[in-house]
Amino acid sequence: MVKDDCIFCKIANGGIPASTLYEDDNFRVVLDAGPASKGHALILPKQHYEDVCELDEAVGSKVLGLAAKIGRAMKSGLGCAGFNLVQNNGEAAGQTVYHFHMHIIPRYENGPAMVSWEPGTIDAEDAEKIVQAIKAGL
Ligand code: 5GP
Ligand code: ZN
Repeated sequence: MVKDDCIFCKIANGGIPASTLYEDDNFRVVLDAGPASKGHALILPKQHYEDVCELDEAVGSKVLGLAAKIGRAMKSGLGCAGFNLVQNNGEAAGQTVYHFHMHIIPRYENGPAMVSWEPGTIDAEDAEKIVQAIKAGL
């Protein structure tokens, strides 16, 4: 399904021009319009899925392999030292466009810190409660 009022549906299917670095039957990969670093790209499925929970399993199974392919090409083509894969689900997680997308963010030697957090703590009792709470939803 393609959603009429979805900007990423339009970009993924060629209705709005974007800097495209890869395309196949299922995906278009474009440069992010507000890049976190040089080469920051987005994997966009051509079909509309709001987030990873909605994503078709067959399409989803291809995302990581494609991300690795693009990341390898960023390392060889742009000379980045590594890359982050970032995929936000829900407003609380920073999602702003509600069409599944995977960020591929090249990281350069001595580049700015990003995609990081302050490690917290957890004890065995808390861990057990958390595990049980998540398992109840599986
Ligand atoms: P999110 O916060 O939803 O994970 O990421 C949305 C991303 O989409 C942001 O990094 C933002 O810069 C990018 N973005 C938003 N609108 C456009 C657009 O029209 N074209 C492109 N190429 N990227 C966009
Ligand atoms: Zn869409």
